[in-house]
Amino acid sequence: MNAPENLQSIAQRMAQTPRPLLINGRWQPSQSGKTFDVFNPATGELLARVAEGDAADVDLAVAAARDAFPKWAALPPAARSRILWKIADLIDDHAQELAMLESLDNGKPVSLALAVDVALAAQSFRYYAGWCDKLEGSTLQTNLPSMHAYTRREPIGVCAQVVPWNFPLLMASWKVAPCLATGNVSILKPAEETPLTALRLGELMIEAGVPEGVINIIPGYGHTAGAALSGHPGVDKIAFTGSTEVGKLIVQAASGNLKKVSLELGGKSPNIVLDDADIDKAIAGSANAIFFNSGQVCVAGSRLYADRKVFDRVVEGVSQVAKNIKVAAGGDPSAQMGPLVSSTQFDRVTGYIKTGRDEGARVVTGGGRIGERGYFVEPTVMLDVNEGMRVVREEIFGPVLVAQPIDDLEELARVANDTPYGLAASVWTRDLSKAHKMAAMLKAGTVWINTHGVLDPSMPFGGYKQSGWGREYGKESIELYTQMKAVYAQL
Ligand code: NAD
Repeated sequence: MNAPENLQSIAQRMAQTPRPLLINGRWQPSQSGKTFDVFNPATGELLARVAEGDAADVDLAVAAARDAFPKWAALPPAARSRILWKIADLIDDHAQELAMLESLDNGKPVSLALAVDVALAAQSFRYYAGWCDKLEGSTLQTNLPSMHAYTRREPIGVCAQVVPWNFPLLMASWKVAPCLATGNVSILKPAEETPLTALRLGELMIEAGVPEGVINIIPGYGHTAGAALSGHPGVDKIAFTGSTEVGKLIVQAASGNLKKVSLELGGKSPNIVLDDADIDKAIAGSANAIFFNSGQVCVAGSRLYADRKVFDRVVEGVSQVAKNIKVAAGGDPSAQMGPLVSSTQFDRVTGYIKTGRDEGARVVTGGGRIGERGYFVEPTVMLDVNEGMRVVREEIFGPVLVAQPIDDLEELARVANDTPYGLAASVWTRDLSKAHKMAAMLKAGTVWINTHGVLDPSMPFGGYKQSGWGREYGKESIELYTQMKAVYAQL
């Protein structure tokens, strides 16, 4: 374990120099020499200056990655596995530091960053370390006489990986681990709001022995660095997590060389409480489903549907939890919820609360800003909403819950599915039969029964409808980062 730092010393270190970007194993300024500012969402103050990568840096990174790819792909799988395992160990060794850095950059409580972001980032590298030497093709019985026919699973090549700001280290790890495990090389673009833990991960990856060019990290803006990656003819695959709107831009940009595309996009996930549920558990779970990580979660249970018979009790319970949540800067040990990530996100979320009120919704809890500095918003619950309202249809990506009473299962399934998204859904009930019927009826990539938000690396994760293309995690991520070759040998 490294000597524990405190938040202040990490902040001082970040403020010292512009953070460089990583190309071909070398930390360097951007080609343009430009930097961009990163802010502490708890105070709105400058936290760090970071090299601003753009198309010129992307060109260099693609060239480095193309060079590195054949050697990395040819490495014995066990050697790749050892390196990935070592990265996980280094993440664990630096867990406290990474959690504090994430908290400063994103705003989330240090305790949450430690228990979720950092722990699951290490888990992701370990899980995919285990896959390196288990990739396989198959031998097939064809109808062709004297034919030896088999398939080989091969890496795709240079992968651009563009991630958002809500779980910066974790999303980077979800992307990079399966990519490298399967013999591909990565150009990672963190979100401009939160590039710091991805850059620190890069340092740990180099320390773990990742060869030059195998991981390149280009912080920068979406419309410059991100767009350059999506359109680049030297990039073989782009993996993106972020908004549905940007996902569509990436699909268009990727059409030039028809690079492979995988997308993890937005959601407006229904959280359904039936009248026979364990109501206390459903209340605690429903509150956590929307207020965890300040609601900045793609699978946030942002639409609550409860059976009319228990609706008032559930709403009262969730509102009570909301009122008791300690909202504070991530470095405050008592913080349960931090600020929103940026002034843009603050304006977006408070704008939606205003829109809800204008549309006729009734705010029964929260609805306001907390304090004068930083981007703190109260956990908010809105009632008297209907399916036509923007607050019910659109992803708010903040701690804002809309709740509606519902009369029967059929209606529940209809309203729950009445959305262009299909990322996740949850059902609270003691009736196993109803639970599994609902699980089948809900059009979502993940359905939780009597829980919400739990994920395991062995399970596939991704969206129906406009919530994405492809599945990450599990063996599905191996499929996402490999392609099959059919080999026919006439004997
Ligand atoms: P965003 O789509 O604006 O940005 C995400 C990333 O894309 C950032 O790195 C950004 O720089 C980059 N980007 C922006 N424009 C680009 C372009 N034209 N070309 C290439 N890259 C570009 O999203 P956000 O506001 O940062 O994140 C919030 C959104 O992400 C929410 O909608 C949320 O649901 C979604 N999200 C989804 C998942 C999931 O797994 N499905 C996980 C986290 C977040």
